[in-house]
Amino acid sequence: MNTFEIFDKYVIANYKRFPVSLVRGEGTYVWDEKGVRYMDFFPGWGCNMLGHCPKPVVDAVCRQMQELIHVPNSWYMPKQGKWAQMLSERGFGGKCFFCNSGTEANEAAIKLMRMYGSGQKRYKIITFEGGFHGRTMGSVSATAQPKYHEGLGPMLAGFVPAPYNDLEAVKSLVDDETVGIMLEPIQGEGGVNVPSEEFLKGLRELCDQNGLLLHFDEVQTGCGRTGEWFCYQGTGVIPDLMTLAKSVCGGIAAGVLMVKEEYAPYLRPGMHAATFGGNPVAAAAGIATIEMIEQENLLENAKKIGAHFQERFQELKSQSDLVKDVRGKGVMVGVELNVEGADVVQKCMERGLLINCTHGTVIRLLPAMTLTEEEVDEGCDIICEVIKSM
Ligand SMILES: *Cc1c(COP(=O)(O)O)cnc(C)c1O
Repeated sequence: MNTFEIFDKYVIANYKRFPVSLVRGEGTYVWDEKGVRYMDFFPGWGCNMLGHCPKPVVDAVCRQMQELIHVPNSWYMPKQGKWAQMLSERGFGGKCFFCNSGTEANEAAIKLMRMYGSGQKRYKIITFEGGFHGRTMGSVSATAQPKYHEGLGPMLAGFVPAPYNDLEAVKSLVDDETVGIMLEPIQGEGGVNVPSEEFLKGLRELCDQNGLLLHFDEVQTGCGRTGEWFCYQGTGVIPDLMTLAKSVCGGIAAGVLMVKEEYAPYLRPGMHAATFGGNPVAAAAGIATIEMIEQENLLENAKKIGAHFQERFQELKSQSDLVKDVRGKGVMVGVELNVEGADVVQKCMERGLLINCTHGTVIRLLPAMTLTEEEVDEGCDIICEVIKSM
């Protein structure tokens, strides 16, 4: 049996997969089983922000694997502590809880918010249409997109969806039972939607006036994606809670909840845990990721190539009626089309470039922050030619 046949027989078909089987990656490129090379502008669904197999992370993980792979959180681990410190010092201070994925980090945030409100019987969390927070029952209930709820009901109660970027609507939804507001500071899966600064500032004020917790889901926007360590740093608004995952360990699975010092005690011993959370291998990878970003000045590079992506697609917009809008920040790029984008993804793949389409019509790129301007041009040339040829 070939790989596709083995999948047919033994792997649950809950993903729509391209008929390509990948075996190796290096920097901007991946290779399939037949030896075909692809340039990857959506590496690891946003997880491989340092490109494929970044050497400092590979080396740190290999070293760690020979020393200690896993010990439970009933013990102290020097690297977990150091990793927490490094994240805290680059963010708003405060403390970390470690887990293994984005959805798990959001579950921890939801539990913390509920425990914070429990003394006053407050439990409602305002969420946003078009948001995406993950697939476990709590996070998917917080994901205010009906297509992700189909057949799963009843959903977890207590999430109150509001239209994104509409402050007045949020104000009208706050009541005595509201405990927090949860959102992506730029919606990723929902179509690379960038809110106004006034909206985020208004949410912060609303939270301060009503004793609500503000939670930014930075699973996609965090860890340098926008050219800052965290997206909030470019907005002038500081959240009370922030969740990270995807690229936080340069491609190794991990999730993090970061919370301001004063709210950290609400996650009490016995009330929450993750067996593998903050394990030595993830911690070694997390530390190596931060060090590589700093040593190679990659936040600056993300800003620089991000601006170049915007230029390239703004130029395309002026040349093609198919392009409706160009959005994003840093290496988070959205190109909204007037037509379905699946065809563009397919044609780019045939020409050796991997990209993504979300929400039907939005071409989404989450490229590595290590790209050179020449590589950006090489990929953008393909996307532009494909769109112009349609
Ligand atoms: C991908 C994503 C998640 C879910 O992360 P998993 O690691 O797949 O559980 C949650 N929130 C946002 C904003 C995401 O982009």
